[in-house]
Amino acid sequence: MTELLGNYLGGRWTTGTSAGSALYDPVRGTELVRVDATGLDIAGGFGFARETGGNELRRLSYRQRSEMLNAIAKALQARRDAYFEIARSNSGTVKNDSAVDIDGAIYTVSTYAKLGSAFGKRQFLFDGEAAPLAKDAAFQSRHVLVPTRGIALFINAFNFPAWGLWEKAAPALLSGVPVVVKPATATAWLTQVMVKDIIKAGILPAGALSVVCGSSAGMLDALEPFDVVSFTGSAETASIIRSHPAVTQRSVRANIEADSVNSAVLVQGEDTGGSAFDLLINEVVREMTVKSGQKCTAIRRIFVPNGLYDATATAISARLSKVTVGDPRNDSVRMGALVNRAQYVAVRDGIARLREQTKVLHDGADQELIDADAALACCLGPTLLGSPDPNRAQLVHDLEVFGPVATLIPYRDEAHALDLVRRGRGSLVASLYGSDTARLSNLALELADSHGRIHVVSPEAADVQTGHGNVMPQSLHGGPGRAGGGEELGGARALNFYHRRAAIQGSKAVVAALDA
Ligand code: NAP
Repeated sequence: MTELLGNYLGGRWTTGTSAGSALYDPVRGTELVRVDATGLDIAGGFGFARETGGNELRRLSYRQRSEMLNAIAKALQARRDAYFEIARSNSGTVKNDSAVDIDGAIYTVSTYAKLGSAFGKRQFLFDGEAAPLAKDAAFQSRHVLVPTRGIALFINAFNFPAWGLWEKAAPALLSGVPVVVKPATATAWLTQVMVKDIIKAGILPAGALSVVCGSSAGMLDALEPFDVVSFTGSAETASIIRSHPAVTQRSVRANIEADSVNSAVLVQGEDTGGSAFDLLINEVVREMTVKSGQKCTAIRRIFVPNGLYDATATAISARLSKVTVGDPRNDSVRMGALVNRAQYVAVRDGIARLREQTKVLHDGADQELIDADAALACCLGPTLLGSPDPNRAQLVHDLEVFGPVATLIPYRDEAHALDLVRRGRGSLVASLYGSDTARLSNLALELADSHGRIHVVSPEAADVQTGHGNVMPQSLHGGPGRAGGGEELGGARALNFYHRRAAIQGSKAVVAALDA
């Protein structure tokens, strides 16, 4: 039997009482560890986090909490190699892809450490200046943001076991709110080990950080009115969370990051010889293949002017044919595996469905694998589809296939391109490629209402741009509509979710005393 991972709840390590679910190596098929949450006292554990963890965290200033984040970043950095090992065996990712998750996590924690130190010795934040409510400002209103007196429950997706925890935990802990994380079962190991390392390092007060691996049963039931829940995952699970009485009756604040059919657009006026065209090709190939396309922000739809459809198909296909796929332990492998058999089957089914309305421009289905048995390994070559008649192929705008797959779509003119992009009904990110800065900024504004982020790639930014799919802590992450309607990160904006805003009304002297 493999190791049954412990859960850290109520200030102590406990294992579930049943045999649990196994986590596998998606390339070799071997069982790695097991997780189980059966029999845990969820309500008691949440209560301990809420009271002990919350009280201790709120006693500290933002600066003290930011020092804890600094210490967390250092502790994680020191164990980086161990995390890469786990990612390689459990997520099946090559080093560069694991880095997106692991180094992305450490960078995000460091960024919030720096940001928090600027808030100084305070234990609450002001939101705007005082506003007069009476003549001579003798009676005023000033808004404050105070940490919520509850827990932050994170229910996370399988594709970012490291970053998914820390991009949420960094702003929560900085805000003074204790964290309970429930990682997705398939890759819970890395999350659990990171939490274990931070608990062992003794950086945080008791109850500030807990982890429950296994089923989420009973967790939403145990949430109370001042708790918050932050969910990342599929639209189906999101709807279960949204309709749970914790949210509908007890007003637990919920943030939802769901799926998204993100776009890349080559703007009009560009040609195959230009650098905007090359930048698009590079970014598309990278986005299709990093983490085998298992990124919520990955490019799923590629829009180019009608006349460039064939040339784009040829250029992307030529690059994809060079992508080596297989066991990430072999240094010549560029793209590893999908996370497990269920995802492998779901991706193949998704491609089959998209193929009903598209043409195959580059087929990854039968790609030869390196050091991997095609009958066993969850490895799949990248596939480029084409939709020459996009007005008829609605599925490419609706179906997110969570793997190394994208669809190339030609457009007539700018209005047509905007209409097609908007058919995604709200996405996390769209990227624009071109050299006409006025046109690019106009288009960015046109798409801003239906996207959380617009990433503009022009030749002068070629060497410094941060990548279509990379979520930077300084920028907003989340998207309207089908993307879930959530907001995360965006620098200090992330703290809003973990604070309650209140207006303090009083005499000039009382309001002034708030700032003492
Ligand atoms: P999922 O199946 O919805 O699972 C997400 C999480 O919800 C897991 O921790 C899962 O636990 C848990 N869960 C499942 N059923 C639940 C229930 N009834 N009540 C409460 N929690 C429940 O999603 P996934 O397959 O892990 O992730 C893939 C999807 O996530 C993709 O669609 C992707 O686009 C989206 N995603 C979005 C973002 C973003 O930031 N917008 C980021 C990453 C991924 P178990 O694993 O134990 O079932």
